Amino acid sequence: MKKGRLFSVLVGGVFCLVVLLLYHMLDLMQGAELQRGGDGPSSQLDNDLYHLRQKIDKLEHLLSNNNRLVATLRDSLMQQNTFNKEMGKANVSSESVDRMTGCRLTGGETDGPAQMLDVYDLLPFDNPDGGAWKQGFDIQYRGNEWDQEPLEVFLVPHSHNDPGWIKTFDNYYQDQTRHIFNNMLTKLGEDRRRKMIWAEVSYFSKWWAEIDEQKRDMVKRLLADGQLELVTGGWVMPDEANSHYFALLDQLIEGHQWIHRHLGVKPSSGWAIDPFGHSPSMTYLLKGAGLSNMVIQRVHYAVKKHFAQQRTLEFLWRQSWDTSSRSDIMCHMMPFYSYDVPHTCGPNPAVCCQFDFHRLPGRRVTCPWKIPPQPITDDNVQERALLLLDQYRQKSLLFRSSVLFVPLGDDFRFVESSEWDVQFTNYQKLFDYFDQHPELHVKARFGTLSDYFQSLHRRLSSRGETPPKLGGDFFTYADRDDHYWSGYFTSRPFYKRLDRMLEAVLRGTEILFSLTLAEMRRFRGNGQLVEGFPAKEHFQRLTEGRRNLALFQHHDAVTGTAREAVVVDYGTRLFHSILNLRQVLQSSAHWLLLLDKGLYHHDQSKPFLQMDDAIAAHDALPQKTVLTLSSEPRSVVVFNPAEQLQTSVVSINVDCADAVVVDAETGRPMVAQISAVWEKPSVASTQVFQLSFVAELPPLSLVVFYVTEARPGSAHRAEYTFVHHGGPLSVQTEHFQVSGLDRPAESALSLSNKQVQVWSSPDTGLLQKLRLKSGLVRQVQVQFLWYGTRSGRNQDKSGAYLFLPGEEGAQLYSQSEPPLIRVSRGPVFSDITTYFRHFTHTLRLYQLEGHAGKSLEISNTVDIRSEVNRELVMRLRSDVANGNRFFTDLNGFQMQQRRTLTKLPLQANFYPMSSAAFLQDQASRLTLLSAQSQAVASLRPGELEVVLDRRLQQDDNRGLGQGVTDNKVTASLYDLLLEDRTAEAAEVGGASVEHLSLLAHLTSLSLSHPPFTMSVPGGAHAVTLRPFRPLRSSLPCDVHLVNLRTLEDQQEAQTPSREAALLLHRKGFDCRAVPDPSPVCTWSDRQEVELDDLFSPLQFGSIRRSALTLLQEDEEEAEFAQQHKTQLRPMEIAAYRVELD
Ligand SMILES: [Zn+2]
Repeated sequence: MKKGRLFSVLVGGVFCLVVLLLYHMLDLMQGAELQRGGDGPSSQLDNDLYHLRQKIDKLEHLLSNNNRLVATLRDSLMQQNTFNKEMGKANVSSESVDRMTGCRLTGGETDGPAQMLDVYDLLPFDNPDGGAWKQGFDIQYRGNEWDQEPLEVFLVPHSHNDPGWIKTFDNYYQDQTRHIFNNMLTKLGEDRRRKMIWAEVSYFSKWWAEIDEQKRDMVKRLLADGQLELVTGGWVMPDEANSHYFALLDQLIEGHQWIHRHLGVKPSSGWAIDPFGHSPSMTYLLKGAGLSNMVIQRVHYAVKKHFAQQRTLEFLWRQSWDTSSRSDIMCHMMPFYSYDVPHTCGPNPAVCCQFDFHRLPGRRVTCPWKIPPQPITDDNVQERALLLLDQYRQKSLLFRSSVLFVPLGDDFRFVESSEWDVQFTNYQKLFDYFDQHPELHVKARFGTLSDYFQSLHRRLSSRGETPPKLGGDFFTYADRDDHYWSGYFTSRPFYKRLDRMLEAVLRGTEILFSLTLAEMRRFRGNGQLVEGFPAKEHFQRLTEGRRNLALFQHHDAVTGTAREAVVVDYGTRLFHSILNLRQVLQSSAHWLLLLDKGLYHHDQSKPFLQMDDAIAAHDALPQKTVLTLSSEPRSVVVFNPAEQLQTSVVSINVDCADAVVVDAETGRPMVAQISAVWEKPSVASTQVFQLSFVAELPPLSLVVFYVTEARPGSAHRAEYTFVHHGGPLSVQTEHFQVSGLDRPAESALSLSNKQVQVWSSPDTGLLQKLRLKSGLVRQVQVQFLWYGTRSGRNQDKSGAYLFLPGEEGAQLYSQSEPPLIRVSRGPVFSDITTYFRHFTHTLRLYQLEGHAGKSLEISNTVDIRSEVNRELVMRLRSDVANGNRFFTDLNGFQMQQRRTLTKLPLQANFYPMSSAAFLQDQASRLTLLSAQSQAVASLRPGELEVVLDRRLQQDDNRGLGQGVTDNKVTASLYDLLLEDRTAEAAEVGGASVEHLSLLAHLTSLSLSHPPFTMSVPGGAHAVTLRPFRPLRSSLPCDVHLVNLRTLEDQQEAQTPSREAALLLHRKGFDCRAVPDPSPVCTWSDRQEVELDDLFSPLQFGSIRRSALTLLQEDEEEAEFAQQHKTQLRPMEIAAYRVELD
């Protein structure tokens, strides 16, 4: 050994001590104690020495070649300490222990996973140039690393097919996708060694419907032989930021049910290579559906690099709230920039591009690195094979096993049959060369995703290794520099809202339709449905609604990142589905309500019930229809889709200024209020009036009310005050009392009910302060602001994906004219509405008893169509001392802590909010619940801001080729909830991470699933209606009926079966917020639930617990289910296959 080398080995030895410690800790972190071979001390010593030698070898190499890597290892030692703190006895960092005093953590956390939040605290986000792998580092090897265990390469051919983006779903299918499938049959059929994976069932099912039996048999044979694998098996590859878990699960059920029915297989691996950031809610659903592995790709480049350095790119992803390993799923994170060939064979894209044979000279695509691929020949095969092997080996060193996963594909690949030929034949020549040269210690072949994972698990278990565990999420994504993809959290907000409207009507209709079929079978007594009820047509409408909602969860749909024409296509689908589902809802309600079922007849052109609003087009907001009243009572039917008794305010538009509402069953008059319908901000209609009344709606019930014109002056009318600081104001309110006209108010405007009082600015009408009955007071100032984008000629600017605000940050919204403020007061609700040039803002307080009166409703109607490169935000500035921490929900399923970090640019501190965000300190919590997805941030302590709409003139270079300029008049709706926090509250529901409070959950439920109001045209007494109340009482407060979804008949296609999927979610809730006032529902800390009790008097003929997409039954739960009992742990979603009798 040369002296110099000896010296470096000695230096290596010194570092080795430090780094060995690190390695040991790394091992501990994986939970992989060195449990190898014989137990004797000598064999243990041998083992240790062997590993020591290996590590010295490795270190020597590292030291002599790469000082930078050693430095990062030293950094990771620091990080290891953080991890150990997390994972050791003190299972949370000391800071968060302080924040949680009084809320005892549940046991079993000693093996808790590392958290992404801590990785964020640790990373410098400095983005140094890594050389060939620009965002990474130089990877070195000696060449003998694979002598013992050969490198095993799985090349996985794939084609990423967006169900709509630049083209519509149908156009992509016609132009590209169907050719891919047709060629697949031929080309995979030619050679059994060839493989392919496919993800989007929306496309697959469309093609299936067109092909003959012979082709279908070929597909089944390819699946059976393992040449073709369906990965994830969802309807689409959904967005994970804006989608609600209802829709995420529904599209997975739709895909899995289709696969099961037509192909009889069950997906086992997840594939999410293009969604712009990744959520653990999705992984929870995948695991729950029976998948055991998954691949993700779009993760912040700095996180990827860090994980590559740690060799933790493969990890067990665990739910942060889970104290067990039940939710763990094996996750592979792709290490490089993209999922295309240049960024998947290894770290050097210039080299990897030469192995994308679709880019051979003369073909349509080229290599931007200017070195084209070469066809593989006898002359060049050796040189080409070694060049490729070098990339494979470098990539392999980022992982702990010598099994290597290499995707082969890109967007809409394998369309032409020649592409199949060039890829498969050239790669086969390379693989053959490897096979002929055992000294290279490499075995490469085409594989599916499951081929890879099976081999990986085999290799890991033979070494007794467990991958490290990780909790948290992968937002907000950046692909390069400071290009954070936080723009799409808000882009096209009109359709993000429409998405939730379809979701609500789909869920409500599914449940009512399932209940209707059950009632009909019971009514008939022979298991048959009622004749004349179009069950099959309705089921097809439901299926179409499911599929259109599913399609919209695609990562270019709900994200707002598709071309304008494609947005119109999606919008039209959502709109039509809403209309179609309403037909099913009305028709089901019709039969359920009839006292004399013999009177039922279905006439689509003359429906018995009409919705109380109409939507004119896919880009229009709903408009209330006007009910004509007379002295004859008119029936109004309200459906409560919630599993809770709801005290709701129902508002309908009527044609007279005096009306009474009575409960049709008891004749009891309802508390009601007549308000003006405004033609202009200060001009009330003289023809149309709004009648609002307080309704007590039992869970899942249909309640009938009679509305009658009353004698003049008998109804409670709202009273109005106008505040206007500008010129003279013309007010026309014939039927209403007006005060304070043109007179600036000296003091703040105020609204109050029994629970809460609020104060607003007399200049703007915007909220300033809140006080609870308990005495808790919080300053909460509402502001509106504009963001612009970067102004320099060569600077990157905001677009559909990216948020790149100008240096000046947000500018306070101002207008030269002072805004008009209108205050209304009445016995049902009071509100303050302010008219600004770009938006109308309303703050409303309902006069309701109980928890329903505790939240403050905020609504905005925004129109920024006159603007250029601007984004409008609503900001709450409070005195809640939350520091830099706040919480946002992930997919409406769980809350995730966020930390606003100054080392990150402003746009990186924005996160997705699909339904909730809160700030809290020791004494209080301020929760903003939302009815739509938006971007949210807390840029300074006490602040919370949401982006309402964005109008951007330019493309942001992510392939869309357009700005976002098709803005609509857009509505957004929120509930603001201020709550006391106490340290004494008993822990309920195993809360070890932060959850919404019980009141927040209930408020969110009413916000997302408000009652549906329908009216009966003509006289009420023509037919007798009786209310429908399927449940004796509300479900427990923390149990949410996600869906009751009728399943397709096994024999007869497109026909409802007797079975339904019952989906329940037991919510986790905060243990420090005392429910005040107490909700009427109950909750318990027992995990065991009796389903017959919950749904009494409904009877289940059979209940079988199953995986979340109903593909397999849960053995463990079989015994429980026989007794109709079930285990439902906090946070868990459970699925049951039930027969409703
Ligand atoms: Zn895509």
